[in-house]
This record gives sequence, structure tokens and C-alpha cells, in this order.
Amino acid sequence: MLPMLMINVTKDLKLLVEEEMRDAYVHGFKSAAEENKTNIISKNGGLNESTSDFDAQSLYKGERLAIDFDQEDEDAIRALNSGKVQTNIYSELNYELSTKLNQQVNNAIVEGRSIPNTVSEMQKVLNTETYKLTRIARTEIINVTNEGRLASYKKIERLRKKPFKYTLVVASGLRTCDAHRELDRRIPAAGLPMDDLIQLQQSVGASHGLALRGNSLLHPNQRTVLMRVP
Ligand SMILES: [Zn+2]
Repeated sequence: MLPMLMINVTKDLKLLVEEEMRDAYVHGFKSAAEENKTNIISKNGGLNESTSDFDAQSLYKGERLAIDFDQEDEDAIRALNSGKVQTNIYSELNYELSTKLNQQVNNAIVEGRSIPNTVSEMQKVLNTETYKLTRIARTEIINVTNEGRLASYKKIERLRKKPFKYTLVVASGLRTCDAHRELDRRIPAAGLPMDDLIQLQQSVGASHGLALRGNSLLHPNQRTVLMRVP
């Protein structure tokens, strides 16, 4: 019974995370397209089950430019979910969650605990881990949204045959770290070509002991949004 419950909990969590990541990517993709007055067309059934994300209004209207949400994006979402671009922190947490739940089951058996007592102990583990997961999810979602935004920009660049210049909108406040303060200072107002922006982040990140993941994620709890310079 209990091990079954545990497997379901971790499986649901994984599905939940995958859905969240997908929504974040789609949201980023859509918002960048909107900024550029570009319509989105779903191609080759690329949107699968989440076609409903693209309401009638965001589909093709009139003479606006249109980009495809296609297999390329499905592949990108799959790569993000597989942890190739992400911090992979979800799978670590998932592992930690399984381990801790397992411990509770073992303790229950060894100590001959009652089922209600065991369930309540497992609930405590779940609450703590869910809290951690939620905190981390905010960062990851911002990162995946930025990946979706960039994918959309890249497709628009191909249409207009001219690359954009990019910037990072850094949320500034007391908690803004030195790396992001420095980045904010060093990105010119006119923005940078994407490759240069990546390079700058790598070099600033490295000097603060941070490694760049994806196109804009240096560390947890950061809130930076990738944007093209108008
Ligand atoms: Zn920072």
C-alpha cells in the first residue's frame, strides 16, 4: 500500500512539473510573439494536447507575420524537461522526496507504527518537500519562459532576416546579487547580439563562481527576463 502511494506521489509530481514547464515555455513563446505582433500557427500537430493554450485570438489573424509552434519547440520542451538545460534540481528533489518517504515507511515497519501515524509523518515530509519545490519552481519557470521567449524571437528573426539585439531585464532590489548588478551595468542600453549576451553572462558568471544554464539562468531565486531591445 504505502510504497504504491509513494510511487504515485513522485510520479504525479513529475507530471505536474512537466506540465508547468510546458506552460512556461508556451507562455514565453506567446508573449514574445505578441510583443512583435506576430501570430502563432500550430504546425504538424506540434501543440499536441495543449492546443487549448492557443486560443482563437492568438491564432492567425489578418496580415500579421506568423511563426510556427512546431516540432522544434516540442523537442526544446522535451530537452528542458529531461534536465539537459535545466538545473536538474527537480529530479534531485524527487529523489530526495522518495528517499525520505521510504525512510518513513521503513521506520513505520521497524517501530510498528500505526497507519494513521505513518501517513501523518509522510504528510509532513510531503509538505516540506512541496514547499522547497515551489520555491525552486519559480526560478525554473522564469528560466523556461525565457527559453520559450528566445525560441519565438529566433523564429521572428528568420522571418525578418535580421537578428535582434537582446538585453536582460534584471529585477533590482536589496536581494539582487553582485553578478546581476554587474550584468545590469555591463549590458549596453542598445542591447547585445544573443551570442555576445551569452558570452558576457558566462564571463560575469564565472567571476562570481556561477555557471550559465540555458540562455539566462545563473542561479536559483533570480528573476531576470530576456527581452529584445525595441
Ligand atoms: Zn543574481
